[in-house]
Amino acid sequence: MTQQRITVIKGDGIGPDIVDSALQILDKVGCNFAYDFADAGLMALENHGELLPQETLELIEKNKVTLKGPLTTPVGEGFTSINVSLRKRFQMYANVRPVLSFKGTKARYEDIDIITVRENTEGMYSGLGQVVSEDGSEAEAMSKITRAGAERIVKFAYELARREGRKKVTAVHKANILKSTSGLFLKVAREVANQYPDIESTEMIVDNTCMQLVMNPHQFDVIVTTNLFGDIISDLCAGLVGGLGMAPGANIGNDCAIFEAVHGSAPDIAGKNLANPTSVILASVQMLEYLEMSDKADAIRKALKEVIESGDRTTRDLGGEHGTTDFTQAVLDRL
Ligand code: NAD
Repeated sequence: MTQQRITVIKGDGIGPDIVDSALQILDKVGCNFAYDFADAGLMALENHGELLPQETLELIEKNKVTLKGPLTTPVGEGFTSINVSLRKRFQMYANVRPVLSFKGTKARYEDIDIITVRENTEGMYSGLGQVVSEDGSEAEAMSKITRAGAERIVKFAYELARREGRKKVTAVHKANILKSTSGLFLKVAREVANQYPDIESTEMIVDNTCMQLVMNPHQFDVIVTTNLFGDIISDLCAGLVGGLGMAPGANIGNDCAIFEAVHGSAPDIAGKNLANPTSVILASVQMLEYLEMSDKADAIRKALKEVIESGDRTTRDLGGEHGTTDFTQAVLDRL
């Protein structure tokens, strides 16, 4: 069997620490991956003079599977988000963000198991927008939804639901106000729902969804929604299971996939050995499932569960007093 090559982008801020943690764990369970390391973000700007160097793009394309730390996009300096650029360039149209309760966190709820499927290439993140007055006092942005884009993401969500034995898909929208864009998304979601009579289909307006997620999150199973709503809702969902340190995400297209944490580079705790690496470890678990290595994925999930439940060397966001390296060692000890 040929050795699977993985492109690894360690990223900025807490990225290198949490990605190193995930790589140690992948090696410990005997994945036998070959890693090609690539730069992106601030690190790439320093080393290559650009945020997203050509050789990084080539490696992502060549290996097809990438594990990535968070990247810092400099604010207000004319840079387009690197993450948005990557998702568009490789047509990774589905952003799959699962949240799962682990006992032992400081979360307000137990037994949360929700997957947000976020459209990743259209909507308010189309990148179409500008300042329209000379004095800079007026700006506009364009949201773009296409029938093809809506159909492929909603179908993706239902296929995922079927594959994983899920019971319900909720389409989240704002069609009452955003009649053209969200209206088209909802229309297509209803049409696709009719093709999946074995799965319960519901729809909900995004503001109500936020309230319902806080008041009664157990009613949700799979959520499918447009780009901006999915971005916001998935952070809310991370809060239900103990915070951003617990939330992974996969960007999936027909050809390439990038696995990463939901959170950003966390500059407030960077370089302090404080970050919870669970987010990226769970992203690598998603990667193993994508590569059909479920036994190894299960082993890592089980070890993580044991560490968090017992409070053995957990990080501060989980109520512990330890750092990234101690937490990683606690997981390694159980593997
Ligand atoms: P953030 O997600 O980096 O941090 C928000 C809060 O969560 C901070 O208090 C941080 O300390 C905490 N946090 C995040 N991850 C944690 C972890 N693993 N363990 C413990 N605590 C954790 O959001 P931000 O500060 O708004 O953004 C910082 C930078 O990240 C920005 O440049 C932004 O553009 C970028 N960003 C990148 C991605 C990505 O690469 N996918 C996603 C979001 C934001």
